[in-house]
Amino acid sequence: MDRTFTNACSLCVEFNGGRTESLPGCEARVSACGPWAVIPSLGPVCSAHVLLVPFEHRTGAVHTTTQARTIETAIAVWSQRFPSFVVFEHANAATGCGITHAHVHFVNVQAEARAAFREAASPSPLLSLSLLSDDRRELFWSVDSLGNAFVDTSGPFRSQFARRAIAKLGGVEFSTDWKAYTHEAWYRSSASAARTFAVDLRQALGFAEQPHDAMGNEAEARRSVNLAAIR
Ligand SMILES: [Zn+2]
Ligand SMILES: [Zn+2]
Repeated sequence: MDRTFTNACSLCVEFNGGRTESLPGCEARVSACGPWAVIPSLGPVCSAHVLLVPFEHRTGAVHTTTQARTIETAIAVWSQRFPSFVVFEHANAATGCGITHAHVHFVNVQAEARAAFREAASPSPLLSLSLLSDDRRELFWSVDSLGNAFVDTSGPFRSQFARRAIAKLGGVEFSTDWKAYTHEAWYRSSASAARTFAVDLRQALGFAEQPHDAMGNEAEARRSVNLAAIR
């Protein structure tokens, strides 16, 4: 698979050795897991706010069934560290979180996602992420630790509405500038969570630690997890 690249995308620039988005004194932000990067969110809205990002520039994380299985495995892995969690993605949007490069948010908050994400007003139950793999419409999906999984294609949704909703749950002052390095302590704890998550996920997916593997073929997820199994 080609690692498509666009200079207009800050994540592509970062992945290709350009400016690294990290706090001074923090370790490298990017942990590789096969064709995926695991990174702490720059503007975390809770103490463990991690993004799973394809190295390849595309607008949705779940464009193939293999990618869907990988994300489902990642949710299962995250849930083992953080029993209370919400995972979500605003995909195929013109703006997303202000960046079109696909990224899935993993946060360690207890929330009934359908209630939290009121802006997604037409949710449909989501039985498997694979069902989204051929869908290029703007969509929002979420899975939470309370057993709710939904998708909503009734967008367009406001940029960052979901980050804002999670911040509001925690009573956190929200900055729309996710590069503003707000909540430095949470950035550091999220960076730690990201490194641990990457180790666990590499093991679950059978990817070697060498980051160079990230540039190669997308391997089959060796352990696929049904969404139903994590409820
Ligand atoms: Zn990109
Ligand atoms: Zn986002």
